[in-house]
Amino acid sequence: MKYLIVCCLLLFCCSEGRAQIESRKPVIGISAGRVENRVSVRNTYIQAVAKAGGIPVVLPVLEDSLLIDEMVLRIDGLLLTGGADVHPLRYGEQPLLQLGSVEPWRDQSDVWYLQSAIRHHKPVLAICRGEQLANVVLGGTLYQDLPSQHADVGMHNQTMPGEYPSHSIYVEAGSHLHRLLGGRDSVAVNSFHHQAVKRLAKGFKIVANSADGVVEAIEGFPQYDILGVQFHPEFFASKGDVVWLNLFKDLVERSSAR
Ligand code: MN
Repeated sequence: MKYLIVCCLLLFCCSEGRAQIESRKPVIGISAGRVENRVSVRNTYIQAVAKAGGIPVVLPVLEDSLLIDEMVLRIDGLLLTGGADVHPLRYGEQPLLQLGSVEPWRDQSDVWYLQSAIRHHKPVLAICRGEQLANVVLGGTLYQDLPSQHADVGMHNQTMPGEYPSHSIYVEAGSHLHRLLGGRDSVAVNSFHHQAVKRLAKGFKIVANSADGVVEAIEGFPQYDILGVQFHPEFFASKGDVVWLNLFKDLVERSSAR
C-alpha cells in the first residue's frame, strides 16, 4: 500500500513537472530605474507583459556589464521602459538649460542591457525614453527639449492620466507597427515627453509621426529586432485594450520565435 502511494505521488509530481516545461512562456526582462534605495518600475509595464503571455522579470540598475550580459542571456526578450532624459553627453551635445532630470547611472545600465540584447539577438520593445535611448545607442541624437528646439511643436506633455489619448499619430503603411495596429493609418496616443528623436540612427526607419512632425515610432527590422515607440501603450494594454496589447504580444512572439 505504502509503495502504491509513493508511486502515485511520483507519477503526479513527474506529470506536473512535464506540464510546466511544456507551457514554457518567454521571459521578458523589463528595465527598471533606481530611486534612492529602491527598484522602480511602473506596474502597468509588468501587467501588459503578463497579459500578453510573457513572464515579466524586472531588471534592476546594475554597475557590472558582465553581470548584465549574463542576465540578458537568460531572458528571451527585452522591454526598455520610460524614465528620465538621456544625458546629452551620450550623443555628443552639451546640456541645454531646458534639459530635464537625468540619471547617468541608469543610462549606463540601460545602454549595457540594450547592447547585450543586440549582441545576443534578443528582441526589443523600447518605450518613450527606451526608444530615445535605442536611437542614441545606435548613433542617433535627440531634441533635448521639443518646445524650445522644434518649430511649431504641439503639446506632447499631457496633464491628464495616461489612459486618455492626447494627440494623433500617422503610421507608415506597410510597416511592422502598421500591421500590429490592424492596418490603421492614424491612431490617438498618449504623450508624456519633451524630448524626441532628432537625427535617426542608421538601421532604423521612422514609422510614425505626429501632425507637427515629431517622431513617434521607429523600427530596426530586419537589421535590429527593435520596435520603438514614443508613447505609452502599456497604459492601454495593461487594462486589456486588444489593439495596444498587440505590441506586447508581438514582443512575446518575437521572443518565442528565436
Ligand atoms: Mn507625443
